Amino acid sequence: MYDIVVVGSGPAGLTSAIYSKRAGKKVLVLERGLIGGQVATIAEIENYPGFLNVQGGQLAETFYKQAKGLGVEFKHDELVSLKAEKDRVFLICKKGTYEAKAVILALGSASRELNVEGEKQFLGKGVSYCATCDGNFFKNKDVIVAGSGDSAVSTALYLLPICKSVSIVSKYPNLKLKAYPPAILDRLQDVKIFYSSNITAINGTESVESVKLDSQKAPLKTDGIFVAIGRTPDTQFLKGVLELDEKGYIKTDEHMHTSMERVYACGDVIVSPVKQIVTATATGAIAATEAIKQLSEA
Ligand SMILES: Cc1cc2nc3c(=O)[nH]c(=O)nc-3n(C[C@H](O)[C@H](O)[C@H](O)COP(=O)(O)OP(=O)(O)OC[C@H]3O[C@@H](n4cnc5c(N)ncnc54)[C@H](O)[C@@H]3O)c2cc1C
Repeated sequence: MYDIVVVGSGPAGLTSAIYSKRAGKKVLVLERGLIGGQVATIAEIENYPGFLNVQGGQLAETFYKQAKGLGVEFKHDELVSLKAEKDRVFLICKKGTYEAKAVILALGSASRELNVEGEKQFLGKGVSYCATCDGNFFKNKDVIVAGSGDSAVSTALYLLPICKSVSIVSKYPNLKLKAYPPAILDRLQDVKIFYSSNITAINGTESVESVKLDSQKAPLKTDGIFVAIGRTPDTQFLKGVLELDEKGYIKTDEHMHTSMERVYACGDVIVSPVKQIVTATATGAIAATEAIKQLSEA
C-alpha cells in the first residue's frame, strides 16, 4: 500500500508528489497521458516566477526530474473510480487497483471539442488540439486555429514560424484575451482572422482539406485545424463519488480536502478563480501538506 497516490503529473500533481516524498512518504504518481500535463504542450511561459522565459516542455521535464530524483514512483494508468474504506482508499484504474492511505487528485482539464462533422474522423489526420505536439507535421502548410482566447493566440503564435499560413476563426467579433495584452495583435499581422464565424464542418478524404464556415459561402481550404477553444475538467467518472460543481470541477475546502475522507484535490481540476501553473503548484503544496498531516495524525 502507498502512503500517498497522486493522480495526474501536471504541475499540481508533481508538486504534491515532491512535497510528499520529501516528507518521507511512499508516493506513486499515476498518469494516463504524457508526463507534465498541459505544461508540456506550452510553447513559451513568461509568468512563472523564477523563469524569465521557459519552454513548457523544459519546465515539465524539470518538475519530473525533481520528483523522480527524489524517488517518486510513476505508473502509466488511468483512474476510473475511487472507493474509500475505513483506513484506505482504493484507486480503480484501467490496468489495476492501487491502495493508498491518502489520495491527491490533480487531474487538470481536457481540451474542449468543436463537436462538428469531421472532427473525430480527422483526429490525427489534420485535426489537432496541441500545436506544440503536432505543429511540426504542418511545416509549410496552411492551417486554421479555431478559438478566440489566449489559447488560440498562443497556438497561432507557435504555428506562425512553422506553417505557410495561419488563420484564426473566432466566433466572436473580437478576440477575448485575458493573459495577453492588446498589443499582441501586432504580432498577429500575418494572421488572417475570420471574426463572427463558426466552423460547421471539417472536410477531406484521407486527411483534412477544407473547413466550412457559417460566414463564408465557399469552404476554406486548409491542411490542418488546431482546436483551441478552452478546456473542461474530465471528472464525469467522479459524479456521485465526490462533490463537484455544475461544470464538473471538484469542490474542496481551503485545505484542498474534497468531500471524501482521505482524498484531496489541487490544480486546474478544483473550483478556483485562477487556473495557472503557479496556482497549480501552490494548491499541490497545500494538498500534500494536509495529506502528510493527516497521515501523521492517524
Ligand atoms: C496552450 C496553453 C497555454 C498556457 N499558458 C500558460 C502560461 O503561460 N502560464 C501559466 O501559468 N499557465 C498556462 N497555462 C495553464 C497551465 O498549463 C495549467 O494551469 C496547469 O498546467 C494546470 O496544472 P494541473 O497540474 O492542475 O493540470 P494539468 O497540467 O492539466 O495536468 C493534469 C494531468 O492529469 C492527467 N489525468 C487527468 N485525468 C486522469 C486520470 N483519470 N487518470 C490518470 N491521469 C489523469 C492528465 O493526463 C494530465 O497529465 C496554459 C495552458 C494551455 C493549454
